[in-house]
Amino acid sequence: MEEMLHGGNEYDSPMYHEAVGQFNRVAKLMGLDENVSDRLRSPQKSTVVSFPFRHDNYTQVDTIFGYRVQHLTTMGPTKGGIRFAPDVDLGEVSALAMWMTWKCAIVGVPFGGAKGGVRINPMELSRAELQRVTRRFTMEIINVIGPDTDIPAPDLGTNEQVMAWLMDTYSQHVGHAVPAVVTGKPPALGGSVARREATGRGLMFLVPQAARVVGIDPVGATVGIHGFGNVGRYAAVAGQEMKAKVVAVSDISGAVYNPDGLDIPAVGKWVDENRFLEGYPDADFIDGNALFELDVDVLVPAAIQGVLHKDNAANVKAKLIIEGANNPTTLEADDILREQGVFIVPDILANAGGVTVSYFEWVQDVQKYFWTENEVVARLREIMTRAFDEVHAIAIDEGIDMRNAALIKGIRRVADAKLVRGIFP
Ligand code: GLU
Repeated sequence: MEEMLHGGNEYDSPMYHEAVGQFNRVAKLMGLDENVSDRLRSPQKSTVVSFPFRHDNYTQVDTIFGYRVQHLTTMGPTKGGIRFAPDVDLGEVSALAMWMTWKCAIVGVPFGGAKGGVRINPMELSRAELQRVTRRFTMEIINVIGPDTDIPAPDLGTNEQVMAWLMDTYSQHVGHAVPAVVTGKPPALGGSVARREATGRGLMFLVPQAARVVGIDPVGATVGIHGFGNVGRYAAVAGQEMKAKVVAVSDISGAVYNPDGLDIPAVGKWVDENRFLEGYPDADFIDGNALFELDVDVLVPAAIQGVLHKDNAANVKAKLIIEGANNPTTLEADDILREQGVFIVPDILANAGGVTVSYFEWVQDVQKYFWTENEVVARLREIMTRAFDEVHAIAIDEGIDMRNAALIKGIRRVADAKLVRGIFP
């Protein structure tokens, strides 16, 4: 790792190893100039903060750690979500920021990658506590974010409401409303219609193209979705709309499985009323990890990182994996699945629908001119399906898998931009 980073070990973490490992493999494959690859291996700016957080009981004060990492400032403002998670660290956020850079370049939105994180478990917080953490973290990073510098969005453990508090805190600070400082906010504040569904919908737009490659019929194809949050839930809705058969979905309580197909609106209603999937009547309740080994055509890991690993990859029966989460497949699992002939649409392509509609949201905020749902969805479909075709063409030309092909596309675009900008001074 040290030789890979040419520096200290401040970013050292399992996820950063994954991101840099993928990058190194592809940089070699492309014959990328060593001077350029060296620059791309480490984030350009990292902000680490710690701040006090008072619990509702007025007696307990915790010191909380937060991060905002901007991987690449070459292409425009930086862009990426903020996650609230109990184990997030600088290395994880840095890896995710690097993946955001490639993701933005693959779909051609004019941003570099960034990511933020607050090390806290949002499930244990009251609404008031969540609001205090959000506002204080926003103040801590206020000098490094802005509509022309770095634009946060939701990620694991954050949502539209958190983005609304972030927007309000920033706007209070500068003295006027600045909707474009954040995306994934409620439409009432300048959020885009169809942003909430964008990641899940974007994933499913790629199913017909990917199904053609592996020779399955997308209509009636059986689908298992790990996760029923902002990505998994809307992937399930989109899957049902396009007449695939969604047979299993999961959350932290476990998975619901019905080989005849789940009634997704009914599952959604159950979760809205009962919070967790457990107890949903019209399905079997199984262990969440068993979902990966079900006999399905398409698997969509849409929750957290590292769920497909060396101990379960060989048991995967799906022919197609569409990665909704960031980094759901470890490097080792990736090799095993590739050998098994599983076609993987990698995260940096598959889940790029989120940041694509975030880009649309930012454009609408900056122009103060808002689009209809049909306009957003049609443009999203066009960008996702074109990106798939372009990445697939590289995969065919070079005789490589889709992950490496996607990385080549993203890295090439960024490297070209770096070379023409030159070095200051
Ligand atoms: N957090 C999402 C991602 O990982 C969205 C980022 C954004 O919209 O800026 O792609």
